[in-house]
Amino acid sequence: MKSPTRNFLIAPLCGLGLLNAVAVADTTAAGEVNLYSYRKPQLIQPMLAAFTADTGIAVNAVYAKNGMLERLRNEAANSPADVVLTSDIGRLTDLKNAGLTQAFASAALQRNLPAEVRDPAHHWFGLTARARILVTAKQRVARREISRYEDLAEPKWRRRLCSRSGKHAYNLALLAAMIHWHGEAAAQQWLAGVKANLARSPQGNDRAQVKAIAEGVCDVAWINHYYLYQMANDAEQRAAAATVRVVFPNQHGRGAHMNISGMAMTKHAPNRDNAARLMEFLAADHAQKMYAEINGEYPVNRRIEPNAYLQSLGAFKRDTLALSRIAGQRAAASKMTDRVGYND
Ligand code: FE
Repeated sequence: MKSPTRNFLIAPLCGLGLLNAVAVADTTAAGEVNLYSYRKPQLIQPMLAAFTADTGIAVNAVYAKNGMLERLRNEAANSPADVVLTSDIGRLTDLKNAGLTQAFASAALQRNLPAEVRDPAHHWFGLTARARILVTAKQRVARREISRYEDLAEPKWRRRLCSRSGKHAYNLALLAAMIHWHGEAAAQQWLAGVKANLARSPQGNDRAQVKAIAEGVCDVAWINHYYLYQMANDAEQRAAAATVRVVFPNQHGRGAHMNISGMAMTKHAPNRDNAARLMEFLAADHAQKMYAEINGEYPVNRRIEPNAYLQSLGAFKRDTLALSRIAGQRAAASKMTDRVGYND
């Protein structure tokens, strides 16, 4: 099909902490689909443009930093949203648990996406995968000196670890996986051991942990892998990124903990057919290839190779624990984090 002329504008759109950016497209015979996204415009607009070029369906995207769940709840049946995009299994399951999504049992999605990155009830689907890797100071930690998440609790790392907030979604998902694999008692003992090894109270984002290692504040941290890719491509952060070594954890066991960014169809999607086409497009080879090149994340569609940077890190074993199982332990992980006073 012919692609319509597209105009991306910044237009005001009210409400609830949402950034006021919206892509406005010409109306076409093929119709439109409305997207609410926590993912940044530069990460997904190329795929949306490819979708429109392919199908003639215009995509109206609203980009937000927070408030999506509340907004969908307030709009209820009047919501224009058809599809939501967000990172982290926690945010996807929160939307489902709030009754704001609907099941979409698509044969194409089931074919393109491995089972562990899909909701068994078809409410949410992974689009990209991220590994929570260990990073270690090249100068101060020998290769293979640490190889598992479990090792972080060992006394030899006393005052040598840096961590972001234990309540951040990425760390909650990792702890939820630890609870799944080891049980509550052992996971709590581990978390207390990690806390005892911190060089400073939890603070900053994932990149800040790499910078702290570069500054000599600590020797080991754990981050989502793509932050290192982004830092390596940033003139100001490249030097800090170069001071750390990547360790894919638990390679002789269950594999590295994985999380996703993903999508869901809203409960009241007014353009359901177009929503279905967009979701299937994003999981298919062409869009997955674009995701891999642009974002530095691992494609969830296993036919697609990761980008050159990720290939340079080497192949690794992923923990294939179903994200739905991780989601099931998130509440326990959050309470445990409070109980051990991780952030104090
Ligand atoms: Fe992130």
